[in-house]
Amino acid sequence: MNTPPRAAILSVGDELVLGTALDTNSRTLSAALRDAGLEVVEHRTVRDELGAIESAMRELAARSDVLVSTGGLGPTDDDLTRPALNAIVDGGAPMVEDPVARADLESWFAGRGRPMASINLRQAMRPRSARIVRNPGGTAPGLHASIGACSAWFLPGPPREMVPMFESDVLPAVRPAGAPMLAKRTVQCFGIGESALAELLGERMARGRDPEVGTTASGSVVSIQVVARGPGAGARAEAEAAACAAVAQPWAFAGEGGSLAGSVLEECRAAAVMLAVAESCTGGMVGGMLTAVAGSSDAFAGGWISYSNELKERELGVPRGTLEAYGAVSRETVEAMARGAAERAHAGIAVSISGIAGPGGGSDSKPVGTVWIGVHDARRGRTAARRFEFPGGREIVRDRAAKAALQLVRWALRGEDAAMIWERA
Ligand code: ATP
Ligand code: MG
Repeated sequence: MNTPPRAAILSVGDELVLGTALDTNSRTLSAALRDAGLEVVEHRTVRDELGAIESAMRELAARSDVLVSTGGLGPTDDDLTRPALNAIVDGGAPMVEDPVARADLESWFAGRGRPMASINLRQAMRPRSARIVRNPGGTAPGLHASIGACSAWFLPGPPREMVPMFESDVLPAVRPAGAPMLAKRTVQCFGIGESALAELLGERMARGRDPEVGTTASGSVVSIQVVARGPGAGARAEAEAAACAAVAQPWAFAGEGGSLAGSVLEECRAAAVMLAVAESCTGGMVGGMLTAVAGSSDAFAGGWISYSNELKERELGVPRGTLEAYGAVSRETVEAMARGAAERAHAGIAVSISGIAGPGGGSDSKPVGTVWIGVHDARRGRTAARRFEFPGGREIVRDRAAKAALQLVRWALRGEDAAMIWERA
């Protein structure tokens, strides 16, 4: 193939430079441009300042074939992408109102039964040498212009508006002809280490294979990345990902964008059981993860944040003798918590967590990071508990404990079992 076109990404906004908002657009755009066969050579982030935007546009356009800029297209005075582009391509001549943009704006407001402020009409203005990129998801249309030999695109900042416009208008226009087709699939795994996963995948990870298989770790989730190239890339990536997911059972829980909580809810639905939780050191994180998934109510009953011993005893029926003899962080306690939660919530399955998230509270026999997780399967009348020692600070311990609890529920529902990397007998 010839050398790939060079692309640059410009992000405009005070909030991005000052650190009050994270620039996620650059990352999204970079990944998509790279996958389409372009070479991304630079990211630039500038404030809402005319001179800074203008010089960034000029410089990036001078050394790239494609420029994608996001932000600064709003109707207010601090939205300066439009005037900056106008200064470059039309020397600051008066802009023109675009009839299509104006009609889109009017129907946007009419469709919502809202009057349009006259300031919004600014968004229908464009430099004479630019054309409008329609925005089906918002009021700010995008712009496209040539800056010298560079094809320059200007999109609104909100990702839910930017991404559809990028995919429908920008990508087809900038994708180099004859670029290799490329398809990617992800398989997310939890509870296994990256090296153990690599061992399971074995020869599949050998260099130079197509599809190519690799692993990445982010937080406590280890992912298998599959990349296929050339004709039929989509189907081959799909097949390879399915094969990898089979090899990585029971740790593999979802593909790209999926979550452990979502997978658990699906398993609950498939088994027609409701799930209940009894959380101590995670303080509701498991319930939070489950209810973050839309439609969880048909599989998640609810639960208890039973932080104190008193609540464990009174609300979940953990015998005082158990708490006194074994302590709150013990097999006996989490098993009683799980049973109590399942019974009292009339749930088919319940999971319980009790641990020492730190930084204080550890001891020689129960160091910080010690967490017991119990699962009670009411359908089989079976209760089991496992002990973990999670490394990391309080946040990480709690996050891992919550996810491990979900994974254990998933395994119980699927009738699967394995050891997790943080388990201690
Ligand atoms: P604002 O005055 O809020 O900046 P605006 O009219 O300037 O609005 P944009 O600059 O397009 O419009 O940004 C609108 C919102 O889009 C921002 O507040 C931010 O939440 C989001 N946004 C902008 N740029 C990015 C980016 N690079 N990555 C992620 N989100 C972004
Ligand atoms: Mg802005």
